[in-house]
Amino acid sequence: MNEVDIKAIKTLLQTPKNIVIIPHKNPDSDAIGSTLALWHYLKNKGQEAIIVAPNDYPDFLKWMPGETEIVKFDTQKEEAEKYIEAANVIFTLDFNDLSRIGEMASTVSKSDATFIMIDHHQQPAEYATYTYSDTSMSSTCEMVYNFICFLEDEDDITPEMASCLYSGIMTDTGSFRFSATTSTTHRVIANLMDKGANNSEIHNAIYDTNSPTKLQLLGCALKNMVVLEAYNTVYITLSKQELLQYDFRKGDTEGFVNYGLSLKGIKFAAIFIENLQEPYIKMSLRSKGDFSVNEFARTHFNGGGHTNAAGGRSDDSMEDTVKKFKEILTAYKNELN
Ligand code: 5GP
Ligand code: MN
Repeated sequence: MNEVDIKAIKTLLQTPKNIVIIPHKNPDSDAIGSTLALWHYLKNKGQEAIIVAPNDYPDFLKWMPGETEIVKFDTQKEEAEKYIEAANVIFTLDFNDLSRIGEMASTVSKSDATFIMIDHHQQPAEYATYTYSDTSMSSTCEMVYNFICFLEDEDDITPEMASCLYSGIMTDTGSFRFSATTSTTHRVIANLMDKGANNSEIHNAIYDTNSPTKLQLLGCALKNMVVLEAYNTVYITLSKQELLQYDFRKGDTEGFVNYGLSLKGIKFAAIFIENLQEPYIKMSLRSKGDFSVNEFARTHFNGGGHTNAAGGRSDDSMEDTVKKFKEILTAYKNELN
């Protein structure tokens, strides 16, 4: 973030404001961790702050300190709109285009608040007054840590904030193994541990709360896996019926796509999951090396993300989606070999 913006934000936050903090739709650990850490920080500074999430998130995030205070736009619309309309500062975290907050975008885009974006995804849209965008960052949580340091308040990081920030860095880096994990990321993590984040408790709370049906759903997904050797690609499908059979809960399929990528020689892994509520297929894409799933998702499946992790959607049937996917792949044969 540049000096001029930091100075301006410092001045902006010197007086009390009505602040709304927004994560993306279907928020993950980085989105919830970063918004909660920022929320604690602003509240401790005497600001009126509230987190408004577009919708609910997995149960394995519901231990995070302050989580029960989050307002959900889809089920608490009136209350959420009241906060957004009254806001004079809006932080948007872990996304960079208002299309990522779904139906909430129409209310948010009407606001004349000062927008501050903190995000690490590619190709940020230009809706914010202050944009802190850095695609080299491991996570939005690492950026919120930096943001607090820019404001010279590192000493104000509480154990609650440290735990929230640790969680998002841990999950977005695949437990510190993806290439965006730098030595600086590890230094930030070390500082967060010194400030009270309990690494093994957090790991346990997020990763070791599986239900038997979730593991059975994983078994089903792995059985459905198809390897396309000519393209060093693997894809997995999960139908509505299969999700229902294994008592699907929000967040159950998180990480499934990575199993495909663990196969020797595989450069591109995809999972296609039928949405239970609406008639579309949600896709998660992962890659190794230079193959950009961000570009792939943007060009063909109305999505985006990072070079090695992106998402998108398809409004076709599962059969047609897979057919389209395979057809598109032919144009990437050289890149994938
Ligand atoms: P996931 O596959 O875990 O849902 O998402 C992988 C990455 O891509 C995340 O950083 C997520 O924010 C981003 N992403 C997922 N779905 C979409 C989408 O539909 N559009 C865009 N622009 N990004 C997405
Ligand atoms: Mn993130």
